Amino acid sequence: MLDANMTAQLKQYLGNLREPIELVASLGDDKKSADTRELLEEIAALSDKVSASFDGDYERKPSFIIRRASDAGKWVRFGGLPMGHEFTSLVLALLWAGGHPPKVEQDVLDQIAALEGEYNFEMYFSLSCHNCPDVVQALTLLALFNTKVTATLIEGGTFQDEVEKRNVMAVPATFLNGEMFASGKMSVEEILQKLDGNASARAAAKIADKDPFEVLVIGGGPAGASAAIYTARKGFSTGIAAERFGGQVLDTMGIENFISVPYTEGPKLAAQLESHVGEYDVDVMNLQKATKLTPASEVGGYHEVELENGAVLKARSLILSTGARWRNLGVPGEFEYRNRGVAYCPHCDGPLFRGKRVAVIGGGNSGVEAAIDLAGIVGHVTLIEFDSQLRADEVLQKKLRSMSNVDILVSAQTTEITGDGERVSGLVYKDRESGKERKVELEGVFVQIGLVPNTEWLKDSGLELSKFGEIAIDHKAATNLPGVFAAGDATTVPYKQIIIAMGEGSKAALSAFDYLIRNPAPTELAAEAAA
Ligand SMILES: Cc1cc2nc3c(=O)[nH]c(=O)nc-3n(C[C@H](O)[C@H](O)[C@H](O)COP(=O)(O)OP(=O)(O)OC[C@H]3O[C@@H](n4cnc5c(N)ncnc54)[C@H](O)[C@@H]3O)c2cc1C
Repeated sequence: MLDANMTAQLKQYLGNLREPIELVASLGDDKKSADTRELLEEIAALSDKVSASFDGDYERKPSFIIRRASDAGKWVRFGGLPMGHEFTSLVLALLWAGGHPPKVEQDVLDQIAALEGEYNFEMYFSLSCHNCPDVVQALTLLALFNTKVTATLIEGGTFQDEVEKRNVMAVPATFLNGEMFASGKMSVEEILQKLDGNASARAAAKIADKDPFEVLVIGGGPAGASAAIYTARKGFSTGIAAERFGGQVLDTMGIENFISVPYTEGPKLAAQLESHVGEYDVDVMNLQKATKLTPASEVGGYHEVELENGAVLKARSLILSTGARWRNLGVPGEFEYRNRGVAYCPHCDGPLFRGKRVAVIGGGNSGVEAAIDLAGIVGHVTLIEFDSQLRADEVLQKKLRSMSNVDILVSAQTTEITGDGERVSGLVYKDRESGKERKVELEGVFVQIGLVPNTEWLKDSGLELSKFGEIAIDHKAATNLPGVFAAGDATTVPYKQIIIAMGEGSKAALSAFDYLIRNPAPTELAAEAAA
């Protein structure tokens, strides 16, 4: 199962095991069970601290647990083979079970250990899902650091019947104690926040105690990270409050246009952003959503940003970089069947529609790329474009038209996604030329119609927004409010790209620098007034 390169790497990693671990498999007579046995035997042969046995009687076959030999209560179970994107998760599970310390903050580990109650997680992943490893690894961590938590991590392709029965149509899909817990990517901190009811109040109290910042960045994507690095390098006290540090990059697979880096992957770039920011004295407040901006009442004064948990942050200068998110179609059925046939990430969820019929809505580059990608996996793809022609690059259109299992519909307005109460069964569109309504029967709908800026929270702040909701900025990244700058996909800057967001973030930071050195701090203002 392992090629020479993987074998050599794994052997080296297993050298980090501090204590013995056991692999216990439950196998059937099928090919995947034979593959599982082969993989576990290969792993066990690489370290005298790893033993494998094949006498498990767990109902899901093939499956295996990884447990610490000295503490059988600490285990994680994989159903099916964690190869592909999950191979790293397998390696980490082996290492953590064997006492190798995970790279997470001690207070996260303390929070895991302090969790009260019984938590039995079952989580479904696909081998091509780039959002799944985060959840697999987070649940592994929980299970290995708290004996009251169990994690069973299931490769959906191996357990197709189960996936169908539980209506899992998007991965990662996480169940807790038999009930749906979360759909989509989650970090260990996010899971903890959901489990630990007091976490939010504790975070609010901690934030409320903070001194005002000279620069506060809202949003931790490429624009925010870049802005924070620039202002920290100028010696300004800098904070970042981000709902999800990393931003859209976390949902991105291959990146080939980040100049000087011919190829990278989103989660890797996000980790590099975090580590680069970590080189500086930047106060990163992750999982913090801004809900209200109150601008300073005088030039040079403090702006206030209220967070969802009620805490208020103050800063002399703000850089708003809250980016964008997938645009919804806004038709009946879209919300109701989200993750039950309506999907947004072809890389993640395509494999769950193997052999089935899907539609891709949107004929721009992302829609046509998605259709090409899906056509290789699913049975049939219908591409639906509102306009009278596709807007994707010609080369992509040509490729799409060459595929035999694709139909392209233009001048088609999707009006409804239909279902049987459980899952998607089709969609309805209006032929904009004839005005006639038509139906397409299918099992999945991938919505690829662009992005919408995350700026709703700014609407009543006095900040100027464009008619599309983007923050209006000038060539220096300044907004209409003195001391408030903005960068990246949330703004009116044309072309939403990583390298542009980073450039804009640094530009906003330099403009904030310029503003701060020209405008006295509030204490200086007060002193001037008193004199
Ligand atoms: C699937 C996909 C593939 C892509 N591929 C590429 C590519 O190959 N090359 C390329 O150059 N670009 C690509 N892009 C575009 C690129 O990811 C974006 O242009 C870039 O991430 C924008 O950076 P940003 O910092 O402005 O915003 P984002 O990355 O969106 O980051 C926004 C940040 O703000 C936070 N936030 C949002 N609202 C709030 C709030 N109210 N309070 C606090 N924080 C908040 C978010 O959690 C996040 O931390 C892709 C995008 C997607 C979705």
